[in-house]
Formats: sequence, C-alpha cells, structure tokens
Amino acid sequence: MADSRPPTSRRGNGVTDTKQDVPFEGLSIAGERYEASDGAVREIHDPSTNTVIARVARATTDDVNRAVRAAYERFAAGEWRRASARRRGEVLGNVAALIRTNQERLAQLESRNAGKPIAAARSEIGSVATTFAFYAGAVDKVHGQTIPGAADGTVMTFREPLGVCGAIVPWNFPMLILSWKVAPALAMGNSVVVKPAELTPLTALAMADLAIEAGLPEGVLNVIPGSGSTAGHSLVRHPLVRKISFTGSTGVGTRVMQAAAEDITRVSLELGGKSASIVFADADLDTCVESSVSAVYDNAGQDCCARSRVLVERSIHDEFVRRFAQRAEQLRLGRTDDEATEFGPLISPGRRETVEGYVDLGKEEGATLVTGGQRPNGDLGDGNYLTPAVFTDVRSDMRLVREEVFGPVVGIQPFDSEDEAVALANDSIYGLSGSLWTRDVGRALRVARAVETGMLSVNSSNSVHIEAPFGGMKQSGIGREQGMVALDHYSEYKTVFIADT
Ligand code: NAD
Repeated sequence: MADSRPPTSRRGNGVTDTKQDVPFEGLSIAGERYEASDGAVREIHDPSTNTVIARVARATTDDVNRAVRAAYERFAAGEWRRASARRRGEVLGNVAALIRTNQERLAQLESRNAGKPIAAARSEIGSVATTFAFYAGAVDKVHGQTIPGAADGTVMTFREPLGVCGAIVPWNFPMLILSWKVAPALAMGNSVVVKPAELTPLTALAMADLAIEAGLPEGVLNVIPGSGSTAGHSLVRHPLVRKISFTGSTGVGTRVMQAAAEDITRVSLELGGKSASIVFADADLDTCVESSVSAVYDNAGQDCCARSRVLVERSIHDEFVRRFAQRAEQLRLGRTDDEATEFGPLISPGRRETVEGYVDLGKEEGATLVTGGQRPNGDLGDGNYLTPAVFTDVRSDMRLVREEVFGPVVGIQPFDSEDEAVALANDSIYGLSGSLWTRDVGRALRVARAVETGMLSVNSSNSVHIEAPFGGMKQSGIGREQGMVALDHYSEYKTVFIADT
C-alpha cells in the first residue's frame, strides 16, 4: 500500500535518551532511524533483573507500509537483485565478517535483552556469522537449467527473487533466527522487512546497521519492531509482500497462514515442538544424561527443539531419573553476565507464570515432581528465574505431556518395547526434532525412519547444522530453513522457451 505521509522525525540510533537514561532505538527504514508515526515506544527489559535497558519505537501500520514501500522501491530499482551473484556473495561475506568483528558487543546485547548466559550468547552470534558466511558461499551455486525435450527450440529455467519478503521472528533466538531468514532471502536478491519479537528487537536493529556498513543498498533490509497484532499482521496483509517467513507458536502460525491466504502470499512456518528423546537400555548413559539435560534446559527450556519428553526403556528408567535429576539440580543458575552461568532467567514475568502454571497442572494431573519448579531466592530474586523441573509418572494424555510448555520442564516416561517407544514419540501434534540413544545401528536406522520429526539426532541432541534443512513435520511447520533448500523458499522458477529461428 503506498504511503503518502512524510516520514516522522528521524531519531533513534542507540543514542542515550538523557531524560530516560537508557538508549532510544528507532525503526530502521531505508537506512534511517525513525520514531513511530504515533510516537509510541516500548520499554525493553533485562530478564535477569527486570530493569529497563532500552526504549524502542513501536511500528504502526503506517510505519509498516513505509518500510514495505521502501523495500519495494529498492527491489524495483534493481541494483541488489540484478547485482552479480558474486557481488551479492561479497556483501553477505562482509556481513559475516562484521558480525565476527562485533561479536562481543552483539553477544552482550543479546545476553542482556534475551536473558541468555553470556557464553551461550557468544556462541549464537558466532552461528549468525556462520549463517551469513554459508549463504555468501551459496549464492553463486544456485542456477537454472536447460531442459531437453523440445525439438524446435530450447527450454530453460531462470531462478528469480520474489520481491519483498517479510520475516517475523520470535524472542528465543532473536538474531540467529533472523539470520536463517534474512541471509537466504538476500542471497537470492530479495528485499526484506523484519518484524522482530516485541521483547527482543535490539540485535535486529544492530543487524540493520551492520548490513549497510557491509555494502547492502539502503532499503534492501528494514527492521520494524512492533506488536504482532499491528506490525506483524500489517506486514502479512501488505499486498506488496510476496512471502512471509514466520517463526513462532503454532497458534499464531495458523493466523499468519490464514491472513496470508487472502493474497496468496507464500508462507514458510517454523512453529512449536514437543520433541521426544528415546533412550534405550544400551545407551551410553553418562553422555546421554549430560546431553539430555542440556537438550531440555538450555535457553531455560525456551527452545522449539527442546527434548521435553524423555522416553526411557523401563530397565534403566529409575537410574536415568536419578542421574538426570541430580544433574538438573547441579545446573548453575546465575546472572547472565557471569561466565560460569549455565542456566538463565525466563524471558518475562508472564512467561514464568505460564510455566509455573504448567508445574501446578502437572501435579494436579497426577505426575510426580521430582525436583525444581521453584523461584530461587537471594541475589536472583529480581529476575524471572525458575529452577529446572523434572516430572515422572507422566502419561501421554496429560496436558503437561501434550502441550508445549516452553520452559524448563521435562516429563520422563518408561517404555517396554521399540514399537511402544515409537508410538509414544509420535503421539503428538508436533514433529519438530528428537533424539535417539542406542549403540545398535540397525535399531537406530529403524527408529529414525519411523519417527515423525523433521530432524532426529542419534546419540546427540544437536538439531542445527547450517548446511542441512531445519524444520518440522505435522503442526511444527511448513518448509525448511537452512541449507541450500532454504533458497528455494526465496525464489521462483521461471520457465523460458526460445524457439529455434
Ligand atoms: P509468538 O507466536 O507469540 O510470536 C512470534 C512472532 O510473531 C513475534 O514476532 C510476534 O510479535 C509475531 N506475531 C504475533 N501475532 C502475530 C500476528 N497476528 N500476525 C503476525 N505476527 C504476529 O511466539 P514467541 O512466543 O515469540 O516464540 C515462541 C514460539 O516460537 C514457541 O512456540 C516456539 O516453539 C516457536 N519457535 C519455533 C522455532 C522453529 O524453528 N520451529 C524456533 C523458535 C521458536
């Protein structure tokens, strides 16, 4: 939708607002920072203390229209989409290098904004750089074909960008998930408008600045913090937006898909999960317990791939529970700026209350709380901390087992046979990720084929390999991010026939 209103005042590039004593960040549109058209601002908090660390402009529908128009005009002008693949690769490579140069600053920002232990934040920012480096190298490996068949000419395909792509990002891995969308979209020559999560817009805005520094033409990447219902919805409904790449909950994903259907806007959806880890009696228990604890409690359990259901062969169930609970109790809760911290706060007071609600529900449903689910006292009292919770005596019909808690809560359940383990793992509306622990290669292959998940790790809890597809089956989503396959979501095939003359 064209926007005829002049831009509102240009302000907000992280300069400290002396009245408020915290930095003010404006919307990033065409390389400039702007206040929201109605002046609305959101305070951004540090989840480990709940103090205000920044004030950020909150985009209105007018602001979204302006950002999309800027992205569209730059796409139509053509200098990015028609740049040689080599040139686009160079710019993406520059982005990767700048992220590495700024890794510590970005890690500090992400740690404070998203409540991540600093060591984890550093690792995530490293992965952001790797993502851009991967797509920098991928750009010139994407090509059309000449297709045999016609006797009277040549059939060929071109790979073309879509136009303006909207990227809607959640708060749990703000910059990393942004990179999984923005890097392949830019690689294929698209323009992008990013709508970060309300709670975690800071690294997305930093990314916009770095992209300009890296040589990306202004207007090709725009970042508009704001609410889902206004900024997010307006982005999905904008007729000039050709594709929406959404990561978030399955409930919101449903609404995004419905809204996108109005204009047949393409969507890819990375949604919720309730992933299972299946532990057979022959597993290497030391490695398995250590890895399984990380797999559910990393990022304070706020991970779409969290293995929040652990299915354990009955003969080792009690020993597994004992060791798992012991390790969960040892996890070091702490301030996010403490290098030794293993376990940080939940993103907000509201999220902690939701997770506490699930802990209460689990008890009401008859599950046994072995440990955790408590607010720690003392120094951490101001933050949104909750100790890692372990439940046993869970059944598949419990809401605790069926619903995505999105917090540090695990349910451990025994099984008696391979078939039962697979049936329990598949008894979910979700199908995102999972793990399988066994030394039996034949069984590993059988179970890997039978489990309905987009990703499965054998004797590991790692779901992310930038070179390989990432995404879910069933209600965990549509489409795949990462790897070469992501480039398909940001390009169209055009078939051209040239007759012999
Ligand atoms: P959410 O669905 O509440 O919000 C995600 C994003 O959508 C936010 O930017 C939000 O502002 C926006 N949004 C909200 N309503 C909207 C609307 N009507 N139209 C357009 N946009 C709208 O999710 P969240 O709480 O930020 O993140 C947690 C969820 O994300 C969990 O369910 C988690 O499993 C999922 N997730 C999935 C993956 C994956 O790759 N599959 C990765 C990370 C998180």
